[in-house]
Amino acid sequence: MSSTTDKKFSAATLLAQALGRTDPDTRAVVLPMHPATTYLRDPDNQYSTGRIYSRADNPTYEPVEALLCQLENGADALVFGSGMAAATAVFQALQPGDHIIAPKVMYWALRNWLQQFTARWQLTLDFVDMRDLQQLEQAIQPRKTRLIWIETPDNPLWQVSDIEAIASLAKAHGCLTAVDSTCATPLLTQPLNLGADIVMHSATKYLNGHSDVIAGALISKVDSPFWQTIRSIRAQQGAVLSPRDAHELLRGMRTLHLRVRESCQNALYLATALQANPLVAEVLYPGLPEHPDHALAQRQMQGGFGGMLSVRLKHGAEAAIGVAARTKLWKRATSLGGVESLIEHRASIEGEGTPVPADLLRLSAGIETAQELLEDFEQALELAVQNITKEPQ
Ligand SMILES: *Cc1c(COP(=O)(O)O)cnc(C)c1O
Repeated sequence: MSSTTDKKFSAATLLAQALGRTDPDTRAVVLPMHPATTYLRDPDNQYSTGRIYSRADNPTYEPVEALLCQLENGADALVFGSGMAAATAVFQALQPGDHIIAPKVMYWALRNWLQQFTARWQLTLDFVDMRDLQQLEQAIQPRKTRLIWIETPDNPLWQVSDIEAIASLAKAHGCLTAVDSTCATPLLTQPLNLGADIVMHSATKYLNGHSDVIAGALISKVDSPFWQTIRSIRAQQGAVLSPRDAHELLRGMRTLHLRVRESCQNALYLATALQANPLVAEVLYPGLPEHPDHALAQRQMQGGFGGMLSVRLKHGAEAAIGVAARTKLWKRATSLGGVESLIEHRASIEGEGTPVPADLLRLSAGIETAQELLEDFEQALELAVQNITKEPQ
């Protein structure tokens, strides 16, 4: 099913059937998990299968990586032990002296790591507003800038950056473009089709979708020396996924299209309703017509605007923390992209120096009944605000 001569099936069919692969040895309709750490050498002292030792590769990864290649239209894919392991492998493949441009608003843990890592590895780094192409172009240093990193929609403000425009600017200056597409999922946006070179996913989130596996993935448009460096970083540093988690991940992915569709619908419903709530100052969601990046989001995202939204409250940080304390359906936890809805006071986890406003709650819309999620949020909001305004002055 993955050969180029085959008919190209829809994402739903590819996902539901996990590429339609079955086990030729047993005729099992579900592929086996391979826990082996080591593989037999041929009698003539060769490794004709290419498999030697599981720190480099494992057959359980193959169907996951092949499926990701199909969904993202890439030449090759690699799964990693976490999203951070995947993302950091890209930066570690750079050479001392290379310059990186990353977005001002991006996944916080990666931003922190970048600031520490680039100093130690003699890389230089600039953060820019990726929605300002002029600012981006000015930040490009001729022959030094090697990589432009994008995250869209960005976490947790859900601004959208223009992958096609950024990738074409990058190409004109001889730089690579990599996209953290975790929140767009392979269904809503295909960065490689828009000119990006590498796509990254925290597979912990929507791809697995059940909050029970930590995993990451990279997909590359072409096989290149840079990509081979990334592959050897995974093998040498052992940033590998356990075969059991790879097996779980493939199972999770088989319902990706259904989960993403529900999450998008729920997020849009919640964003629209909460925007009309008098206790809400602002709803950040690219699916809202009022969102400054809505037109771009409509162009770049197909089938929905994602399951992530943020809500800013008129009564500030105290109300935000108070709401998270009072929801019953919404689970108060970090992370996103699972079947259950999560709520988080984001500034608390990011800590000092965060660009996230203190009155902001980040919501990951799951696949529950939207009306029930709304009612739960609104009762918590009412109680939290009552609790503040009731206090003696
Ligand atoms: C969670 C996340 C990551 C990091 O992935 P892990 O699997 O937690 O290591 C990177 N980028 C985004 C946008 C994320 O949400």
